[in-house]
Amino acid sequence: MSTATSDFDHQHLWHPYASLPPTYANIVIDRAEGIYIITEDGTRLIDGMSSWWASVHGYNHPKLNAAITEQLGKMAHVMFGGLTHQPAIDLGKKLLDIVPAGLDAIFYADSGSIAVEVALKMALQYQIAVKCPHKQQFASTHSGYYGDTWHAMSICDPVNGMHSLYGKQLPMQHFVPAPPLGFDRALTDSDRLALTTFFAEHSDELAGFIIEPVIQGAGGMRFYSPEYLKLLRQLCDEHGVLLIADEIATGFGRSGKLFACEHADISPDIMTIGKALTGGYMTFAATLCTRTIANAISQSDYPALMHGPTFMGNPLACAVACASIDLILSYDIEACTANMQTIMEQQLALATRLEGVAEVRCLGAVAVIELDEAVEMPVFQALLIEHGIWVRPFGKLVYIMPPYVISDDELIVLCQALLKVTSIYLKQISLPEKRSLSMTERSL
Ligand SMILES: *Cc1c(COP(=O)(O)O)cnc(C)c1O
Repeated sequence: MSTATSDFDHQHLWHPYASLPPTYANIVIDRAEGIYIITEDGTRLIDGMSSWWASVHGYNHPKLNAAITEQLGKMAHVMFGGLTHQPAIDLGKKLLDIVPAGLDAIFYADSGSIAVEVALKMALQYQIAVKCPHKQQFASTHSGYYGDTWHAMSICDPVNGMHSLYGKQLPMQHFVPAPPLGFDRALTDSDRLALTTFFAEHSDELAGFIIEPVIQGAGGMRFYSPEYLKLLRQLCDEHGVLLIADEIATGFGRSGKLFACEHADISPDIMTIGKALTGGYMTFAATLCTRTIANAISQSDYPALMHGPTFMGNPLACAVACASIDLILSYDIEACTANMQTIMEQQLALATRLEGVAEVRCLGAVAVIELDEAVEMPVFQALLIEHGIWVRPFGKLVYIMPPYVISDDELIVLCQALLKVTSIYLKQISLPEKRSLSMTERSL
């Protein structure tokens, strides 16, 4: 099975976190439907990635297509400065119905990273408004990921993050150790003490504490206990620090709850959403905050929130987001993701027996096979394509987060193919001669 690659792409187009030309070629995709991504030469690949947490309903979904087409007939875009429109209002109402209690004001942003920037600005403006201008820094944990813009980078994992190159130019923030691994692992006294001590020492400088609730995504695909979030909520309250929950990856059901904060039964002061917000159709995100924060900023000496992207509140994005939320609410999302978790756990458990696999873990609609060594992408990717699936490992992490519409049988096929690919790959790279051969074969 071969797959098309493009020379123009190879020479001229940057891809995420890549060099130019890239070290191996990108696969040309012609179309996608349901859970399948279809390459230019007709190869059908089961999508294990939901295009980075976004395409949760699969591709080319009739309801999402209809929503966007209908809106297109009215207007694709209109500025949000001084103007508003029904799709923005409808989406706002739908969001406030489903997000954690207390969140009441919405800022529409154009991407996840920008939603995070807006969240940080909100927190700073709030602290100035409530006469705590000394609270101007942010804290986070190790292994976090919040996006690629400047201040988002500054709170990503400072060591393993993808941004260490820019290190000295980034603002200095505070970091606590990553939450202990394991959704079911109870917090120990020393875990608690570490956080409590940190707040006692630094809360005077802190505008906010930002965290991805329960699942740390691109910073390590780590799951941690909701108890940790509960403790954070409590400490933030005690110390006048805003709790910022980044639900850009976890939002809309991925963690097993509609929002991952629900696992801990807490509400953040500020929350960011993105990725699955439009069902993977358009770039769009939002930052939500409490009425208290919105009022404090709006009644302060600098009463405006100083951000306003050109494509703020884009009507196409709002319309498709409305349709996507309707779909999510039409699934029994907790039962659906619990079922996916059970199947992935059963199917991938065998991977723990492979030499070179460190751990297999699943939570909600996310499954991770952590290897001992970083994946050699050209080798792994070629095997994936041969076996008819699309997965994109990073570092040691081979993970899937399939669309919610995948059937049980299809999910089993995906898991079995992934298991097979992983097993062949691990055997192949442990044989040095075969490995160099396959590298040259597959690189281009
Ligand atoms: C992807 C992601 C972001 C950044 O979103 P973009 O739309 O890529 O800018 C921020 N936070 C988390 C948790 C993410 O997973």
